[in-house]
Amino acid sequence: MNEKEYEAQLLSTPYPKQDPYGALSMPVYHALAYEFETAEEMEAAFCGRTDEHTYSRITNPTVQHLEERVKNVTGAYGVTALNSGMAAISNTLITLAWSGCNLITSRHLFGNTYSFFVNTLNALGMKVRFCDLTNPKEVAEAMDEQTCGLFLEIITNPQMEVADLAALSKIAHDRGVPLIADTTIIPFPIFRAIDFGVDIEVVASTKYISGGATTLGGLIIDYGRFNQYRTPLLQALKGTSQSPFHTRLRKEVHRNLGAYMTPEVAYQQSLGLETLQLRFERQATACKELAGKLQALPQVKTVNYTGLRDNPFYGISKKQFGNYPGAMLTFDLESREECYRFMNRLKLIRRATNLFDNRSLIIHPASTIFGSFTAVQRESMDVKETTIRLSVGLESVASLFEDICQALA
Ligand SMILES: *Cc1c(COP(=O)(O)O)cnc(C)c1O
Repeated sequence: MNEKEYEAQLLSTPYPKQDPYGALSMPVYHALAYEFETAEEMEAAFCGRTDEHTYSRITNPTVQHLEERVKNVTGAYGVTALNSGMAAISNTLITLAWSGCNLITSRHLFGNTYSFFVNTLNALGMKVRFCDLTNPKEVAEAMDEQTCGLFLEIITNPQMEVADLAALSKIAHDRGVPLIADTTIIPFPIFRAIDFGVDIEVVASTKYISGGATTLGGLIIDYGRFNQYRTPLLQALKGTSQSPFHTRLRKEVHRNLGAYMTPEVAYQQSLGLETLQLRFERQATACKELAGKLQALPQVKTVNYTGLRDNPFYGISKKQFGNYPGAMLTFDLESREECYRFMNRLKLIRRATNLFDNRSLIIHPASTIFGSFTAVQRESMDVKETTIRLSVGLESVASLFEDICQALA
C-alpha cells in the first residue's frame, strides 16, 4: 500500500464533492441524468471540458467513489468499474484489439474468457495465439508486429499455474506489447501488480471484493505506464493524455458497450472493499492450513495449492503473492464418481459456483464450468474429471475439515 495501510487509505478517500447531509458513507445516487444551471455549463460537461456528471451510463457519483477508492489504494492512473468481470475483460480487449491483430495467451483461462477470445473476438478478426506462459522463449517467439497484448490469469483455475510476471512483462515490453493480467484470485491489497510489470489489471469484483456474494462487478485498473500501443485508435491518441488506453476506454468504448456499474452495486462493493484485506487474510490462512490437512488423507490423490512447499509453482508464487496465495485450492479423488459421491455427502460446504464467498463452496469444474466444452478441449485445457475445486470461506478450519472427513468416509 502507498504510505498508509490499506484500510486507512481506503476509508479516508474523500468524496469528489461534499454530501449536502454529511453522510458518513457515500450515498447511493440512483440518478440517471444530471441537471445544469446553464446551457454553457451543459456544453462544457458534454464536450468533456469539465468532469460533471451527465448520464449514468458514463459516470455516476456512487460508482465514481468506488473507482476513486480503488485508485487510491492501488496508485493506478485510472479505474473503471463495470457490471461484471466479463465486462471488464471485454471492454479492455475491445479497446486494445483491431481487425487483423493477435493476442498472446494461454489455454488455461476462465471459461467465458476463453470463449470470448476464440469465438467473439475471432469473429471480428482477432487471432488467438496460445502459448505455454511458463516458457518465456515460446512467448517471445509468438509475438510480432500485430500483437495487441499478452493476457494471463495470475493463478489459473483450476490448473493453478503461475507464470513469472516480471520475466513475461520484460519480454512483452521489449517488443512493444502491453501485459494484461486477470488478478481476480489475489486482490490488490495483497498482490501489487504494478511491481511485477502489469500494465492493465482486470478483476472480477464479483469474487473477493463483493464478499458475501452480493453482486456482480468488474474493475479495469490502468497503471498508465505503457505508451507503445500499436492499436491504430490508441496511436491516434498518443500525446493527448498519459494513458491513451484509459482515454479511449472512457471516451469511446465503455460508453458504446454500455456495461457501466450501477450505483447500488457500487455501494455494496464499496462495503466489500472495506473488509477485503481482513477477509482475505482469514480465508487464505484457513485455505493453506486445510491444504496441508487434505494432503494427509489417503482418499485424496493430490492437492493443488501453490502455497504448499512441494507445489511446482511454490517459489514463484511466494515471490509474487507471499505466503498465502489465495483461498482456493483443487484436489483430486480417484474418479468422477468418487467426486460426485463426496460432494453429495457434504453438510457444511455448499455445492455452488463462485469464488471467495463468505461461505465455503465446492464444484466439479469438468462437468459444470467446462461442461459445454468437448472432452478433447477439456484435455487441452488440463481440466481433469477427477478434480474438485474448493473455495474456502470464513468458517473455521476445524469445521471444514470435519465436514470433508465425514463426506470422504
Ligand atoms: C469469475 C471470473 C471472471 C468473470 O467474472 P464475472 O463477474 O462472472 O463476469 C473472470 N475471471 C476470473 C479469473 C474469474 O474467476
